[in-house]
Amino acid sequence: MSVEDTIGFLNDGERCIVCGKSLKAGEALVAMRQGESRLPICCPLCLEAYQKDPNPYLERLAKQTLLRELRRASNGESSNRSK
Ligand SMILES: [Zn+2]
Repeated sequence: MSVEDTIGFLNDGERCIVCGKSLKAGEALVAMRQGESRLPICCPLCLEAYQKDPNPYLERLAKQTLLRELRRASNGESSNRSK
């Protein structure tokens, strides 16, 4: 396992979807549900911002998830590429 992998793993905990603050288990004020995903929110201010206009946060989250999937896919398949 490379150092980068380790850092990625450690940073893979929950983050407030509004301000991006990293949260320990149980530290989130509340966690929204969006399908299979948990969307943690750290504080009442972030909750208010999210409730006013959730779209930018949901879009950013979708992008981050996509990027992470892409990175994981390219790491995992680089040694084993058939195309
Ligand atoms: Zn927050």
